[in-house]
Amino acid sequence: MEQRPRIRIAVSGCLLGEEVRYDGGHRRSSYVTDALAGAFELVSECPEVGIGLGVPRPKIRLERRGTVTTLLGSRDEDLTPLMDDYAQRTAAAFDAARVAGIVLKSRSPSCGMGDVKLHESGAVISEDGTGIFASRLAAALPEAPRISEVDLESPARRDHWLTRVFALAEIGELASGSPDAATLYAFHARWKMVLMAHSERTARRLGRFLAATRDGRRALPRYREDFLAGLAEPASVGKHHNVLLHLAGHLGKPLDPAARERLGSEIAAFLAGEIPLAAPVRSLAAWAKRLDVPSLTDQAYLADRPEPLGYREAIYRA
Ligand code: SF4
Repeated sequence: MEQRPRIRIAVSGCLLGEEVRYDGGHRRSSYVTDALAGAFELVSECPEVGIGLGVPRPKIRLERRGTVTTLLGSRDEDLTPLMDDYAQRTAAAFDAARVAGIVLKSRSPSCGMGDVKLHESGAVISEDGTGIFASRLAAALPEAPRISEVDLESPARRDHWLTRVFALAEIGELASGSPDAATLYAFHARWKMVLMAHSERTARRLGRFLAATRDGRRALPRYREDFLAGLAEPASVGKHHNVLLHLAGHLGKPLDPAARERLGSEIAAFLAGEIPLAAPVRSLAAWAKRLDVPSLTDQAYLADRPEPLGYREAIYRA
């Protein structure tokens, strides 16, 4: 297990089991309180309590007024400016605390993302709104990966979110140390295979960019933006399969033929949707360590991640 600073994740307080909902209840998510709490430092946040609405409180709602979405209180008072201001301050605090990921409660007029009831003249006109807090947070911290507790139940979406969390946390650490060109290149070498599984184009473009870079500090902002945008693209079984074959090739001749065949069968079984990605990744990591292959032992793609997260443990279908 890598010894790195504990990664910070911001979470809607009600998902942590805190009784902060309008009705005095909570919506505890066991994945949040068990898996995420065991692996990360969780920062609780309830924006409705934050703007002083109290618990319990009357329900609030999203209302469409012309082209603008507003947050209305129970007496139709406009809470949008208050929430705008609160979200800006919260985003600044998350940024300062180097929050690397955000989990927001679905369907809430404050925290929901794309699944909130939208009203017009008091009637529901759609259920695809985004809460005011969530939308302002997304605008202020576009790089911080966000996910709802519902999407945390989808292994593919959860794995993608976790990958982006690990990446943002690590590039944030790098940025805090004013890296020179060699350090930035070493970071790219470590993350290149993860990037290849999401965007081969970005991985190659960044490789060329860094080859012509002499000043790591100046190159970092552009590198960081492109790197995180590449990881925001979804991975696929086919792209993971290519990466696994590539990494297996790096083990080279020291791997005996029988072991090579077993590894090849495992990679083929992953492609066929018979075993999870974590299985060949574990085998590759174990061989890289045993054979002491320097180009593989520090690969982020093969890094050991906290077991309770269930990272890459589900079967993906091609
Ligand atoms: S959904 Fe957001 S605003 Fe509502 S109770 Fe949970 S944390 Fe608070």
